[in-house]
Amino acid sequence: MKHVVGRVPVRSLVLVTVLSLGGTALATSAASALGRDVPDPSEPAVEATSTTSPTPTVSPTPTASPTPSPTASPTPTASPTPKPTATPKPTPKPKPTPKLITRSAVLGTTVQGRRIMGYYRGWSHTTQKRTLVVLGQMHGDEKAGLQTADWVRRNVKPTKGSEIWVIPTMNPDGNARGTRTNARGVDLNRNWGTSGYRSSGKGTRTWGGPRAASERETKAVAAFLRRKRPDYIASVHQPFGVVVRTDKDRGWERRLADALGLPIREVGVGTPSGLTSPTLTGWYNRYYGRHGTATTLEYRASVSSAYAGRRAGLAITGAARVRARLG
Ligand SMILES: [Zn+2]
Repeated sequence: MKHVVGRVPVRSLVLVTVLSLGGTALATSAASALGRDVPDPSEPAVEATSTTSPTPTVSPTPTASPTPSPTASPTPTASPTPKPTATPKPTPKPKPTPKLITRSAVLGTTVQGRRIMGYYRGWSHTTQKRTLVVLGQMHGDEKAGLQTADWVRRNVKPTKGSEIWVIPTMNPDGNARGTRTNARGVDLNRNWGTSGYRSSGKGTRTWGGPRAASERETKAVAAFLRRKRPDYIASVHQPFGVVVRTDKDRGWERRLADALGLPIREVGVGTPSGLTSPTLTGWYNRYYGRHGTATTLEYRASVSSAYAGRRAGLAITGAARVRARLG
């Protein structure tokens, strides 16, 4: 074929003419009649010509093209505006309406493969000023907070500029087993990396685990809280019937206590004085306390679903001042 290259323009010229007259079969026969090589149909020259051949069938469409042009006419008015230099004029642009965003995220997985879920409610196009995290359950045998989490997730719309993260349980294995500890026998509220952490007590209900923050559940929630740095964290437990005092944010504690009908009390976890409790709230308040306050809520042992759901959900979101309305 190489030796033909010089003649290719001539041949393709012929081909184009013949093709426009109609059909490849005619083209090849015409080419062979001219005594030249029959072109390989895969050759670009032929493909190019063959693509031109179907155009007559497309030609009726131009009649449709004039009609859409009026819709295209507004674009010329926009075309003079684009300047490559960054001249942002915020005044002519109307502010986009904030939209409620709901989404879920997998914060981590347990040794038994269960997912630790987080559910988000917030607004687009707003600067988030306040973040509330509701942790429904850490101890698998304390079930009431699951209802709080569920109720908040389903019913509360945050104020614009606020966002709510609901973590129904950070111990889904313990929840499935109905045990305080996780599947490895670790009390997740003694496993946080603070000065008060102890590895002793294996086999008891309050074993802190082999190492500080050894558990996947602790790591997952700690990573989440480090990222979000919430203003308020409500960590729900049972059965003492108190709002655990931290004195970090007395207004928040008072609002919680009033709405929940519970007293504010100190609750020790056996940590020597001067050391920080190896609990979620101990850890957060110690290391991220300038960002916000984590508070342990101890519902009573037996609470109605109306209390654990609506009442507690209203209490927590109201105390954090993140609730706009329901629905
Ligand atoms: Zn608990």
